[in-house]
Amino acid sequence: MRTPLVVGNWKMHGGIAEARELALAVRDGLKRPRGVEVVVCPPFTALPAVAEVLAGSPIGWGAQNAHWEDKGAFTGEISPVMLVELRCRLVILGHSERRHLFRETDEEINRKVAAALRHGLTPLLCVGETAEERRQGLTFTVVEGQLRAGLAGLGSPQMERCLLAYEPVWAIGTGVNATPAQAAEVHGYLRGLVSELASKEVAQSLRILYGGSVKADNAAALTQEPDIDGALVGGASLQAPGFITIARKSAAKGGPAKE
Ligand code: PEP
Repeated sequence: MRTPLVVGNWKMHGGIAEARELALAVRDGLKRPRGVEVVVCPPFTALPAVAEVLAGSPIGWGAQNAHWEDKGAFTGEISPVMLVELRCRLVILGHSERRHLFRETDEEINRKVAAALRHGLTPLLCVGETAEERRQGLTFTVVEGQLRAGLAGLGSPQMERCLLAYEPVWAIGTGVNATPAQAAEVHGYLRGLVSELASKEVAQSLRILYGGSVKADNAAALTQEPDIDGALVGGASLQAPGFITIARKSAAKGGPAKE
């Protein structure tokens, strides 16, 4: 049984006042979300303000990245310890913008995943192929490599505490989402891999989100696929009404969770 999860990735948008306003609107629009969990990931600088607004509400908050070290001479980095202090629930790791624009390697992402777990944070590990890789028929090879590398060295109990997101690079911020069938195919493949790496039970309980141009009008079709357990939402998470609709449309039908 997996409760769908919708995560808003606000990326590098908005100052503290805007973040507070957006968090308030999401909180007030989703007072008692049924059959769905919701988390927002503002920029680091807005985390304290967002935490203040959302504390005591059912909406969680998380971060968009974290370093693998607890502290030290790492100018410009944020450690998982700092995120725990801000009561973050999860941390997005291996986002395609980190991989492609900032050249993060699988090995670094793996260290970040392990560090997040060590500190009790839930890592949301993102994988996904570029348009060219898909054209060359390499989708499964690419996501498999990223998944195996990202989870390397972890035992089943640790993998069970992770979240995955399939985010085809060609769908992020482009307005062109993967079709439910395209996404479902990759989600099923990833779940099969987790079954192999951990166990069938872990694979059945692990939530795999889809990300890439999710909007109010495509959320329901995507998340009604049995292997799609919610959404990682970028652009559309910056407007509260649309994000709230996505959350509602991603909720499990007729109950708190889907099998
Ligand atoms: C993302 O950045 O994780 C994302 C999915 O962006 P968008 O929804 O804008 O495609």
